[in-house]
Parts: sequence; C-alpha cells; structure tokens
Amino acid sequence: MEFTTLFWFCFYMVFLVISSLIGYQKGHFIAGVLLGYVLGPIGALVMYFSKDKKHIICPACEAEIHHKSYYCPMCRAQVRGHVKVD
Ligand SMILES: [Zn+2]
Repeated sequence: MEFTTLFWFCFYMVFLVISSLIGYQKGHFIAGVLLGYVLGPIGALVMYFSKDKKHIICPACEAEIHHKSYYCPMCRAQVRGHVKVD
C-alpha cells in the first residue's frame, strides 16, 4: 500500500474512533459511528456539537449532571420536574 493512502486511511480511522467515542459519551453511539464513517473529521465535529442526551444542566447551579439524577450531586437541588427530559 502506498504511503499516502495509508496515511489517509489512518487519518480517517482516527476520526471514526473519535466520533464514535463522542457519540458513546453523549448517548448516541450509532450516530457517532455512522457520522465518523461517512464524514470523517466533519462527522467528529458534528458529533462534538450535537446535543448531549446523557446529561442535563442543573437549574440551580448550572452543573452538568446525569439525566437520570433526581437530585443534583453538586448542590442537592431537586432536578426532576424542573428540567424537560427528552
Ligand atoms: Zn446543582
């Protein structure tokens, strides 16, 4: 295999992995894999700016907390019922 081909292949694979990891962290792993596979670096970027489904913002202290939390671990404020969870 030619060096340039190998380089671009590795370059592409790195962004596929990055995109998949971001997708996994945000709760849409399949979308991350697909975006990384189809768009490479752009897919990873899109995933980076996509909506985080696994985390919500605490209405009291604005900390990023898990979307299934009932109380905020930072300030103990009640979260359920205050934040729209989709
Ligand atoms: Zn809080």
